[in-house]
Amino acid sequence: MQHIQSASVMQTFVLAARREGKRIGAVPTMGYLHDGHASLVRMARAESDIVITTIFVNPLQFAPNEDFTRYPRDFERDWSIAEKAGCDVLFTPSPEEMYPQGFQTNISIGGVSAPFEGVFRPTHFDGVATVVAKLFLLTQPDKAFFGQKDYQQCMVVKKLVRDLAIPLEIVVCPTQRENDGLAMSSRNVYLSAEDRIKSTILWKSLQAAQNLIQQGERHRDRIETILKETLLTMNGLTIDYAAAADADTLEQPTEFAPTQGIVLLLAVRLGATRLIDNLVVR
Ligand code: AMP
Repeated sequence: MQHIQSASVMQTFVLAARREGKRIGAVPTMGYLHDGHASLVRMARAESDIVITTIFVNPLQFAPNEDFTRYPRDFERDWSIAEKAGCDVLFTPSPEEMYPQGFQTNISIGGVSAPFEGVFRPTHFDGVATVVAKLFLLTQPDKAFFGQKDYQQCMVVKKLVRDLAIPLEIVVCPTQRENDGLAMSSRNVYLSAEDRIKSTILWKSLQAAQNLIQQGERHRDRIETILKETLLTMNGLTIDYAAAADADTLEQPTEFAPTQGIVLLLAVRLGATRLIDNLVVR
């Protein structure tokens, strides 16, 4: 596996590979890799000649009160996980490399960025769209691999690609979970032992709402009530949102049509840790 840190070296490398007709797969991450990330790399390996994993903790997508400085980092471990999963190039630019002095561009996407995460983290998706656009230009992938774990992020990135006619395909990969259902996340290391046990309630509440929908419930209110009631059986947990929305548009009708895909979206706080999860019911 090669290690590249310079943006210009990355771009030169990839332009040469493209001239040779190589298919490039990119997996953008913030590092502290786990099996969720590894599943993306494996998927990229299966569909590309050259797999580039990027590790960049993007300051633009963190608000000043968020966990940018304490975000977990472990380069040695990341190297070994990426290599085992079949990565060819690990691209780890510094903030100065990504945002050199005088950097003034911001990409802001309307619509899908506004609800849910957009309400609680108002500048987050601008940061995501801006860094993802730059990473796409630096790595020039044919396909870029993202996790369904960050459902709204996938929608924002797809919108970016469609609106700006960026010539690549976004591949959305299934959420990898721990045995007890907790979605894998770099932030899970923040959880105390007690909160780690409580965190299984997210998956339980998604499943409870899924069961209700599968029994024929289409009223959004009733679906959201079971999500919230299940979550609140755990004390010490705060709900940012627990919502049901159209899986394709994120619109929230009073009642879903029989054939309408529904995405259940959760964001909760346990102690100082914020967890998100989702489940699509079609
Ligand atoms: P992050 O490092 O958290 O920014 O995540 C990098 C990529 O990995 C994003 O596309 C995430 O959606 C994806 N990802 C994170 N956790 C998981 C998971 N548990 N299963 C699948 N993909 C994931």
